Formats: sequence, structure tokens, C-alpha cells
Amino acid sequence: MIVSKAKERQDVINMLEGVKSVFLLGCSECATLCGTGSPEALAEMKESLESIGKKVTGTFVAKTGCQVLGTKVELKANKEEVDAADAILVMSCGAGTQSMVEVFKDKKVYPANDTAFLGNMTRFQHFDERCSMCGECIIDKTGGICPVTTCPKGILNGPCGGTNNGFCEVSPDIECAWAKIYARMERTGELEKMRQIIPPKDYSKKLSPKVFVIEKKKEEK
Ligand code: SF4
Ligand code: SF4
Repeated sequence: MIVSKAKERQDVINMLEGVKSVFLLGCSECATLCGTGSPEALAEMKESLESIGKKVTGTFVAKTGCQVLGTKVELKANKEEVDAADAILVMSCGAGTQSMVEVFKDKKVYPANDTAFLGNMTRFQHFDERCSMCGECIIDKTGGICPVTTCPKGILNGPCGGTNNGFCEVSPDIECAWAKIYARMERTGELEKMRQIIPPKDYSKKLSPKVFVIEKKKEEK
């Protein structure tokens, strides 16, 4: 899931300087799980903005904010509320915010959140970064644990000389990714694979902006 953090409220207020009325849009997926785009978060934002004299013309939690066409269709029911607002304040990730830029080409659109990373929710409201979307997954060679992301140095053939009793030299709060990889591959009987040298990654696959189109399969003749 995409992890988002709410901006400081004062930063949002500063962003809305000169804006008298806003429409609030949330997202029922990642931003709701993060508590940054849920119905409760929207209600709290509405109350906060109204307390400083802003008019909130309406609120809506989109099913999937980054789905441009789906959100456009959903928002038809809120057309009057959106039209009445000077701006849309989007409480989702940056992708959801830019969906609104695409849908409402002449309307001001502002982000209420900072988008942080692709994360795993490992316990309630606790998110860990496990994958940094490098575009070429190699974790079949590392016991299913990603050294690109979970080793602060991104070492592909570790550990480095600083590994310390299972922890990382960068911080005693971080487990050494390569100690974890070793322990897991020992458990799964794949230790022999650790003798293979993983070649340098092709980081051109991580360059932005990316486009991915799923092509229709040709019908078999
Ligand atoms: S190697 Fe790591 S960063 Fe790359 S796709 Fe796999 S899990 Fe994600
Ligand atoms: S101690 Fe382990 S996790 Fe830390 S930088 Fe070295 S190999 Fe990576």
C-alpha cells in the first residue's frame, strides 16, 4: 500500500491562503488505512477548516482515488459541491491528488498529505518499507527479503563489514537485512544460493516517469 502522512495543519492552512471554499476528497484504499483520507479524517479536516472561516462545500471518499476515470464518474453526483468550491483539497496520496488535476482541469487542487513510500502494514498503524519498486525484482535470490530496500546501503551481495550481531551499523534499531536473509535461507534450505553473485542492477528500469500498458492477448486462431 502507499503510505501517506498528513501534512502539518498549519501548512495546509498556508496552502489555502486566499481560498474561501474547498471540497474535500478522500480515498477509501491506502489513505483510509493510513488514517489520512478516511471519512473520520475528512470530518476532522472539515471542522478544522470551518473553525478558521473556510467554507467546506462538500466531502467525498473516492473508492480508489488514483483511478482517474472511476473517480470522475463517482464525482458526478457531487458536481454542484465541486463547482461551488474555489479549490479541491485531496486527502490521499500524490497520485490521487493528480487524478483530480486530470479531472478538473481548471480547478485549483491541493494536497493535504505527504506521500511517503510503498509499505507493508505490519501491525495496526505501523508501516514498514519493504519494496522500493526498482522495476526488476531479485528477491528470488535473497530468500524473499529485499536488500535493495531493507539494507540502508542497498547491498546486493552482503553483508557489509559493519553487520553487528544481526543488527545494522547504520542504526541499532535496524536488523541487518543480510543477517535476516541468511537466517531465512538457512531455514528454507537455500543457503547454497548465497554463493551466487548477484550482478549490478539495471537502474534504468527505475527511471521516471514510467508508463505501463497491459496489452490485450491476441485471440488464438
Ligand atoms: S528487488 Fe526489492 S525493490 Fe526491487 S521489486 Fe523486488 S522487492 Fe521491490
Ligand atoms: S549492516 Fe547489514 S543492513 Fe546494515 S548496511 Fe551492512 S549489510 Fe546493510
